[in-house]
Amino acid sequence: MTDFSHPPRVLPKPVEPLPIPIENDNEFRIVKTAILSETHVRLEEKFAELERHLHKSLLAQDSETALILLTKGALGLGSSDIHYDVTETEAEIRMRIDGSLATVLRLSRPEYKLLLERLKYKSELKLNITNIPQDGKYRITEVADGHIDVRVSTLPVRTGENVVCRVLDSTKSIPKVEELGFIWTSKRQIDKSLNKKSGMILVTGPTGSGKTTTLYSMMQDLNIPTRKIITLEDPIEYELPGIVQSEVNEKNGYNFHSGLKALMRQDPDIIMIGEIRDLETANTAAQGALTGHLVLSTLHTKSASETLERLLNMGLPPYILSSAIDIIIAQRLVRRLCTHCIETYQADESQNDIIRWMMRDIGIEAVSKAHKRGFKLSRSTGCDRCGYSGYKGRMGIYEVLYVSDTIRAMIRSGASPVEIMAEARKNDLMLMREDGVLKAMRGKTSLEEVFSVID
Ligand SMILES: [Zn+2]
Repeated sequence: MTDFSHPPRVLPKPVEPLPIPIENDNEFRIVKTAILSETHVRLEEKFAELERHLHKSLLAQDSETALILLTKGALGLGSSDIHYDVTETEAEIRMRIDGSLATVLRLSRPEYKLLLERLKYKSELKLNITNIPQDGKYRITEVADGHIDVRVSTLPVRTGENVVCRVLDSTKSIPKVEELGFIWTSKRQIDKSLNKKSGMILVTGPTGSGKTTTLYSMMQDLNIPTRKIITLEDPIEYELPGIVQSEVNEKNGYNFHSGLKALMRQDPDIIMIGEIRDLETANTAAQGALTGHLVLSTLHTKSASETLERLLNMGLPPYILSSAIDIIIAQRLVRRLCTHCIETYQADESQNDIIRWMMRDIGIEAVSKAHKRGFKLSRSTGCDRCGYSGYKGRMGIYEVLYVSDTIRAMIRSGASPVEIMAEARKNDLMLMREDGVLKAMRGKTSLEEVFSVID
């Protein structure tokens, strides 16, 4: 398999189209749905595994281990909320996964009592008080680096006491840009943009797509004492030593637009502005980029081409956009497969078809010698290191549009985003779905994970 962390000798180039059975979007969606429902079955298996281990530790009166398993299990399953709901006969434990609550497991009332006592004790709540709501916090230190903090709230209900926990993972540290998982061509383009004294770098994606982490990684790399970096955020998510961070306060009229103007008067070299939402902010940010500042920001758009479209639709004149913009990074987050319980398997026919379909434009021959025999993929079965979820941590999948001189001229002369993307494809631009499939083929994530974030 080609390793994309190093430059291949021959660049991947479009090749002859393959005979691919899946030809339209509709068929793609049918196959995708089938594969995702299979994922659902696998998720249920992971719930069952977690349940088995929980019963086992509770049977041994080891409620501490049970609580650790459950907390780490939530993070592993990609959830940060654990709900304990008690009924007359049992307690149901649910987790919010991808926005909706999933029933993960059930405990008997005696088991729940044991776990609840440990939870309250660890959170420094009063054990004997069960008839008023209490708030607390516990910490789990049994993790590789750092700890996990959990905010706990209890609620007295007719059948006992319910609990809702919010899991905060502080082991999440800011990665270096090179650790973000860009293919080498994109990484080189990003470095080029970061090394410029002025210009505009935009990171785009929906809420929860890791935009802030990418910006923080870049600022961390740019952060040297001879440069002044100022941010305007909503809210400040991490504290970065050496960087001047400011938070918007809409109530007092301190918003992105007015704040950005104030920031410019602070003689900065680099400005990070949390989000561009309107023309005024876009305009001021672009002016900043044109007057010798490096401007970093985000936009709530799905892809690189949609970002160009949005900025132009906002009313930013093409001649300003074309001169200011340097690079657009569109991204999503996928969960990483746990490396302790990973296994490879031979993709089935529908998976092979869909991989060929997703990679049809860049030519699968360029990325895999094994394409004729079918692809190898990876999955994780779940172990105690990943809380039986099969996943540990997350990573980005990207689409990086580097604004070359040709593209700059195209934007200025009013070319459509479609034409611009076609030009960028000639210069190795990889679509997000292609980056995702490559990462799945390299065993970093599962194909199902990639499907679940690509639309
Ligand atoms: Zn594992």
